[in-house]
Amino acid sequence: MERRRLILSTGNLHKVREIKDILKDLPIEVISKDELGFKDFDIEEYGKTLEENAIIKARALWEKVDGMVMADDTGLFVDYLNGEPGINSARYSGPDGNSERNIAKLLDRLKGVPMEKRTATFITVIALITEDGETITVRGECKGHIGFEKKGGSGFGYDPLFIVEGYGRTFAELGEEIKNTISHRAKALYNIRNEIINILEDGKDENTGNK
Ligand code: IMP
Repeated sequence: MERRRLILSTGNLHKVREIKDILKDLPIEVISKDELGFKDFDIEEYGKTLEENAIIKARALWEKVDGMVMADDTGLFVDYLNGEPGINSARYSGPDGNSERNIAKLLDRLKGVPMEKRTATFITVIALITEDGETITVRGECKGHIGFEKKGGSGFGYDPLFIVEGYGRTFAELGEEIKNTISHRAKALYNIRNEIINILEDGKDENTGNK
């Protein structure tokens, strides 16, 4: 019997590895969009929330492939800045920006703001579209503070600035192994893992347990 397929709408190898690892014991085939030949398939994220963007990305690929499709969207929400950079985290310093410039802009916007007011939350939303078109979304959050300067050498994006609550160190200082057990994305992934387990269980019922 063929295993059900889960197609990942991300081309980010880092994420693909992390997702495959967390789902590795499930009886499904996990394939990235690049592995399916959709490397150049890019979707404009025109949504106003992480949920909308995750669904837009998952749905666009779902139209083109056979199987379940999953997409994620992440943002860093800084309380003092009323939720900036939020859904614009990737493009905070403009369309041609990069992580260095995003970090510089964030530090500039928080100039003179004391540590107790630099609270922030990383949020990841994952959208899953099942084979018959049902949409499921889950969230994962990680709370922390925005540091006064970059610290640590690992990770990506805002990792060198994000001091994780309860750890007193940035994601970039903690390293990938610890980050991948406590991060917003890891939490969302464990939540979607539970949803997939439920979907597979329902599939068994519908097929008299033969699936
Ligand atoms: P994406 O939706 O995962 O592509 O995330 C959007 C942007 O948020 C990225 O371009 C990064 O700048 C930032 N970001 C997402 N996840 C993380 C993370 O785990 N650490 C630091 N920055 C992140």
